[in-house]
Amino acid sequence: MNKQHWALASLAVNLIQALFKFLAGLLTGSLSMMGEAVHSLSDSFASVVAFFTIKLSDKKTKKFPYGLYRLENLGAILIAFFLLMTSYEIFRRALGKEVIVKEEYLGLGIGVVVFSLVSSLVLSFLERRAGKKLNSPTLVADSYHTLTDAFGSSLVLLSLLSVYLGYQLDRYFALGVALLISYTAVKILWKEVSVLLDVSVDERTLEKIREVLLSFPEIKEIKGLFVRSSGGKLFADLVLVLEGRDFIRMHRLVDHIEDSLKKELKELDMVFIHYEPTDKEVFKVGILLDEGGNVSQCFESAKELLIFGNPPEKLLVPEESESALSELISSKGLYIVVCGHHPVSSSAKGILSQGGVFVWETEEKNPYRAFKEVIYSLNSKEGNVH
Ligand SMILES: [Zn+2]
Repeated sequence: MNKQHWALASLAVNLIQALFKFLAGLLTGSLSMMGEAVHSLSDSFASVVAFFTIKLSDKKTKKFPYGLYRLENLGAILIAFFLLMTSYEIFRRALGKEVIVKEEYLGLGIGVVVFSLVSSLVLSFLERRAGKKLNSPTLVADSYHTLTDAFGSSLVLLSLLSVYLGYQLDRYFALGVALLISYTAVKILWKEVSVLLDVSVDERTLEKIREVLLSFPEIKEIKGLFVRSSGGKLFADLVLVLEGRDFIRMHRLVDHIEDSLKKELKELDMVFIHYEPTDKEVFKVGILLDEGGNVSQCFESAKELLIFGNPPEKLLVPEESESALSELISSKGLYIVVCGHHPVSSSAKGILSQGGVFVWETEEKNPYRAFKEVIYSLNSKEGNVH
């Protein structure tokens, strides 16, 4: 069974309980029973909202590129207000006039609450077990809620049993039910409002992400780790300091980090990994310029080498050959050289690859824009995990 199946199971249990409690509440006149009926009904609403928003949340549009995850949070807030209104109404009635429970339907009432108590306990137990197995904190949290539902039913049971023994204590137990409902409402509000304010995810999830990251020896530092949760989905922004000179290998590494993260954390929807090299000089970029000062179409037509380093340099290019130029590039410790095309001669190619220089082919004519193109691609690597 997956998360949606559990939401359906919980919906079924709550709907049946709501119906039975409502009928039993009408027949016995018990206020605590009525309160519990409304409570079960609002729990059913919560399941319906969760069910539909899980379906809807995957719909990403141009206007809502992150999907509609927050609908679930919004729905939960509405339910919390409904619960608060319910508990206010129960308080008002319980504090108003005496509540008399009719004895003729007592047996039926007791039957209903015992059924509710047992079904909530069983559901809570199964949910917690499945939640641990599916690694779903939402499901585990729901199992605790279902446990408080069982507690609510047991309050009604105590009330009805006391009538059986000749005491009319229902209004006091109704107060207990009202307290329980407002406690649930406040808890929901607190959680959902925090989510809307982009609270960080729990420490356990962060620890799990750190563990995955630290399993990569190339990651020298985690400079930033920002994870927010939205309707059960996670969005992560990472700033990593990576060791390595090879630009292609670094790109592959970042892909690999993404894959590992999504394997460990199924709820992860989007990861943005920004990375920096351990040594800033590693990304020294050179651009070959032609006679006109534009990016040179090929190695042969290059007249100057513009180096974006600290400080920037402009060098005249040796006339003789592609190999001589490649020697110069290697000796300058360049990491990337930008040009229209790769060199033609294989000896030049050999010199460059030995020097760890990557040739970046561009169609850009303006050297500064070509430089921007390189830097932009290097510094951010965005991933959309699906
Ligand atoms: Zn509940």
